Amino acid sequence: MTLPTDPAANLAALIRCASVTPAEGGALGALATMLKPLGFSVERPVFSEDGTPDIENLYARRSGNGPHLMFAGHTDVVPVGDEASWTHPPFAAEVAKGEMFGRGAVDMKGGIACFIAAVARHVESKGGPKGSVSLLITGDEEGPAINGTIKLLEWAAARGEKWDASIVGEPTNPDALGDMIKIGRRGSLSGSIIVNGRQGHAAYPQLADNPVRGLMTLADALLHPVFDKGTKDFQATNLEVTSIDVGNPATNVIPAKATAIFNIRFNDTWTAETIQAEIHNRLDKAAKRKKYRTGKTTAVDYELVWRDRPSHVFLTRDDRLIEALSGSVKAVIGRKPALSTSGGTSDARFIKDYCPVVEFGLVGKTMHMVDERVALADLETLTQIYRRFIEDWFERGVS
Ligand SMILES: [Zn+2]
Repeated sequence: MTLPTDPAANLAALIRCASVTPAEGGALGALATMLKPLGFSVERPVFSEDGTPDIENLYARRSGNGPHLMFAGHTDVVPVGDEASWTHPPFAAEVAKGEMFGRGAVDMKGGIACFIAAVARHVESKGGPKGSVSLLITGDEEGPAINGTIKLLEWAAARGEKWDASIVGEPTNPDALGDMIKIGRRGSLSGSIIVNGRQGHAAYPQLADNPVRGLMTLADALLHPVFDKGTKDFQATNLEVTSIDVGNPATNVIPAKATAIFNIRFNDTWTAETIQAEIHNRLDKAAKRKKYRTGKTTAVDYELVWRDRPSHVFLTRDDRLIEALSGSVKAVIGRKPALSTSGGTSDARFIKDYCPVVEFGLVGKTMHMVDERVALADLETLTQIYRRFIEDWFERGVS
């Protein structure tokens, strides 16, 4: 039997499955076909929730005697956009000038293809790792992410699965393979501010209460002063006001209502709870300011509504895991990667509740773009890095 040792062949098989969220598109089936000859038991639980599409997921485990390493990722991909703008069709896996084109090439079917090739090479030459290896793959990362990684982790944990470490194969490298390992992520929170005023004639402001004045006062308090200057491991906390909406087409009418929405990315100076309290505090104080509202006797009448669930900040402090990975990068490409907590959130924020987690994958430059593509040379290099990492991590034993 031929084992899936060639990452390019693995990736081509995955790209040819049109698995735009929430469609499975055959991608999990293709994975199962690769994993079974390697000794993995494969399960494909489907999760449902009212108001969201049913999602198929995959959990595969190759059991051994020793520690348990989990590789996590997703086979769903974002839509292709304008298909006519692609140089090569998005689900054909065509290769040109040493690059394979296709949706998901780097985000993140490519990472999965390389990890499977790495395990396959280990199985072929050394009979496979001594401990257990599992793949936790969702079909719902790019979508609502409700029937994906969170439920898959709960499902596996309820069946007694325990992991000693996890690696997420998202494309973490900004420019070149080996640039960056992610060892944590900032937290994220979004909210809406609704200011209620009193409608009136722009020429008679004393008879009205312009909510735009109130909203400007509140927005100002969110932007200044800075929340912090950053920490040893994280960049500074940053808040962006992402929209201000009044919807008033008349220049001579003071509107009745104004709203703003904002997003804050916060570092480990804060928790979701303390940053929410800080924002409440700033707004309450600012609501009493007269700067833009001279002559008004009441405070700004506002409401703050938090949107979605907060993403919590985390930092992985597992030397064995981080050193095994960064050492493997150094051994294969000759330089040490930066250890970073930059960028947006990822499914690692859910995994961190179960075991230490780091992220390392391909180069992210073309992700979500037309002509998403990966250098075949990068597929081979990442496979070698993963292969070395698997060997190293199991050799180090559980600390
Ligand atoms: Zn991704």
